[in-house]
Amino acid sequence: MHTEQRETFYSYACPTDQNAGLYLRCKICGQLQPMQTECSEQIVKQIKEQEHFAVDASMILEGVCQDCQ
Ligand SMILES: [Zn+2]
Repeated sequence: MHTEQRETFYSYACPTDQNAGLYLRCKICGQLQPMQTECSEQIVKQIKEQEHFAVDASMILEGVCQDCQ
């Protein structure tokens, strides 16, 4: 699973040119990785249903990545 995330990370190296999605940025090492597609879509869907807000741009969530924890 970790390997798959790495591959996805490289293919989505430039998030601004990609479709709407959620990205996770580590505030320690600066690594940016896309959230799993299913998880990302689920959150976008919930925001729309509960907040009545349609997210149409990439959103970056800051935190601490697995390597830095
Ligand atoms: Zn990190």
